[in-house]
Amino acid sequence: MRIVAIDYDGTLADTNGVKAAWIERHLGKRVAPWRCNRSDCVPIIGADNYARMGNAVYGRECTLRTPEVPGALEAVRLLARRAELFVVTARGPERMGFAREWLENSGVIRCFTGMLSSKGTSKSQVCSTLNADALVDDDVRHLSDAGEHPFLKLHLQYGRDEEIQHDSRIVFCQSWDEVLRVLASAHPRSGSRRERPQADTPRENSPPRGPSDILHFSTCVFRSGGV
Ligand SMILES: [Mg+2]
Repeated sequence: MRIVAIDYDGTLADTNGVKAAWIERHLGKRVAPWRCNRSDCVPIIGADNYARMGNAVYGRECTLRTPEVPGALEAVRLLARRAELFVVTARGPERMGFAREWLENSGVIRCFTGMLSSKGTSKSQVCSTLNADALVDDDVRHLSDAGEHPFLKLHLQYGRDEEIQHDSRIVFCQSWDEVLRVLASAHPRSGSRRERPQADTPRENSPPRGPSDILHFSTCVFRSGGV
């Protein structure tokens, strides 16, 4: 693995646990945290309630109080020794800064080369532009819509204790330990390269750069180069 893209909410930060608590408090329903990603949760609580919940849990105060998904921070530190890491999030630019603050407070921001938003595009498109070898995400829609994109698709749902049947292109993982094992046994796909134009220069809150690669992305590059 040379380049690994990692989702933020529900994958690094345990936003799903915060959502489960919000749902119980505001809607009186008990929903398992692993079901609180958008794809699994909207059929349970409805799109309007999901949006209302999002306004609370993706805000700064709630974001900064959110704990890690168990094992995520240690896994990131280990992975950063042998791969270049990017956060790829569906958060829009207005909420990415809160996630960045969380990464700073958690002491892992230097493990990442940058953070990109998939808002207005798709994570598969972002991963293609990054030439990523793998995407780790708790919401299967970001993996299943990747179709024939050749990167490794890891579906991490912490706390889900039953296996799920995916097509053969998606690997289900129940913990960050499992993610590390799968990534350790995988090989960079042929044609993968490290050079990407948006990571050439460390920039803070840099505007979208393009048009060739990241026209639709909001990018804040933390630093360049691997660890
Ligand atoms: Mg997520």
